[in-house]
Amino acid sequence: MIVAKFGGTSVADRPAIERLVSIIRAARQSAIQPESPDWRGPVVVVSALGGATDRLLGIAAQAGAGDLAGAREQLAALRARHLDVAGVISTPADLSGAVTFINQEFDELERIVGALGVLREVTPRWLDAIAATGEIVSSRIVAAALASRGLATAWIDARRAIVTNGEHTSAAPLWRETEAALYATVDPALIARRVPVMGGFVGATKDGVTTTLGRGGSDYSAAIVGACLGATEIHIWTDVDGMLTADPRIIKDPKVVGHLSFSEASELAYFGAKVLHPATIQPAVARNIPVRILNSRRPEDSRGTLVTRDRPRTGNPLTAVASKRGVTVVDIQSTRMLMAHGFLRRIFEVFEQFRTSVDVVTTSEVSVSVTIDDTRRLPDIMKALADVADVTREDGMAIICGVGDDLKDAPTFVGHLLDALSGVPVRMLSQAAARRNITLVIAETDLERALALVHDRFFGEVPA
Ligand code: ADP
Ligand code: ASP
Ligand code: MG
Repeated sequence: MIVAKFGGTSVADRPAIERLVSIIRAARQSAIQPESPDWRGPVVVVSALGGATDRLLGIAAQAGAGDLAGAREQLAALRARHLDVAGVISTPADLSGAVTFINQEFDELERIVGALGVLREVTPRWLDAIAATGEIVSSRIVAAALASRGLATAWIDARRAIVTNGEHTSAAPLWRETEAALYATVDPALIARRVPVMGGFVGATKDGVTTTLGRGGSDYSAAIVGACLGATEIHIWTDVDGMLTADPRIIKDPKVVGHLSFSEASELAYFGAKVLHPATIQPAVARNIPVRILNSRRPEDSRGTLVTRDRPRTGNPLTAVASKRGVTVVDIQSTRMLMAHGFLRRIFEVFEQFRTSVDVVTTSEVSVSVTIDDTRRLPDIMKALADVADVTREDGMAIICGVGDDLKDAPTFVGHLLDALSGVPVRMLSQAAARRNITLVIAETDLERALALVHDRFFGEVPA
């Protein structure tokens, strides 16, 4: 059985949902062939309509700030957009069921928004309740669109299928409970030869309180479903041809990486290749399930990117380059001149205490530099370290991370990389123990130039 996940742009409007229907129809056709290992399913996991999550979070913020009129206006526009997209549903019965559902969900949102406008406070729990609506309604529309085309479907409420802890806005799945819930909800639909359709990103605690898995978390939902139900493959349908050699928003002509290893994919995702949520790979690795990244705009033409445990070697030690903006460097200098015993432990304890994850670390005899991208608790961290160190911060930095399983066999690569950068100042440089990545920290203002130089050197056309 295949799990097919469709991102926001792949369900953004009626034409996108029409394309989704064709993709699922084709998958269904091959699934019903005798001997097919995928005779059940696929299980369809969908994101909110493109941009809807941002809108919902914006509405919550507006209501919390007391701008009730503005929040209501935005909410009405979002309701109208969903009702318009629902026009893709081609039978009156399926359409009216979906319209009633959309209206109920938006009526409920209006009540919540009204209450938040009075309370003037938006807690993470309320944020989740509001944000989750995006996937709840989009999945309902997609299920009805498929049903109206004659495909036997079953809409699954993700709040009854994914069980999480109570860490609102970045909840983690409770594996045993989730597996049981998926076997109680999705599996019966598969056995009945229906196509289960559910929203990604969303779950609920054991007590039934709605949670979300963090931004971009629909990929993670797909992987959770795939791992728990033993999928043969997880397909991530998106708006690009696969994992590209660099972020296409920065580099004009990146190339598609045909085959990635799990480790490469998770490094790239972690360091900014947004096409895959960083947590997605973990359940796929645990069950050794291949992941494919595919373009929903060109389902026939695009071969996409296959992600598996191992991949064949290529001639290039570098597989792709990821990049991340909005990074802060924290320099921590020991006030005792030398790095005393326990100094590093103390530093990382403080970061842990304030739940701030560190990306890149470099050390010298008397100082440690780390990068973080969530600076909300940084003032507390700096205060907590003040008794053992002088701490300074530098905002406006960026990370470039070159990734490749074969980098370990290319000892001169760092030299070539620095040479390619031809004078771009490098603030930090780190090569991880597995030697699968080389990470540079530079000023954000240098990012575009630096990425272009690196990409051109390692992936550019060789002059004739
Ligand atoms: P979806 O809505 O389908 O989940 P996302 O917006 O989360 O899609 O991810 C797809 C986007 O990721 C692409 O449109 C692209 O701009 C961005 N992206 C960044 N780095 C890469 C990369 N190395 N390869 C492919 N896409 C990338
Ligand atoms: N809709 C959610 C978001 O925008 C989850 C996702 O699309 O993966 O973050
Ligand atoms: Mg995404």
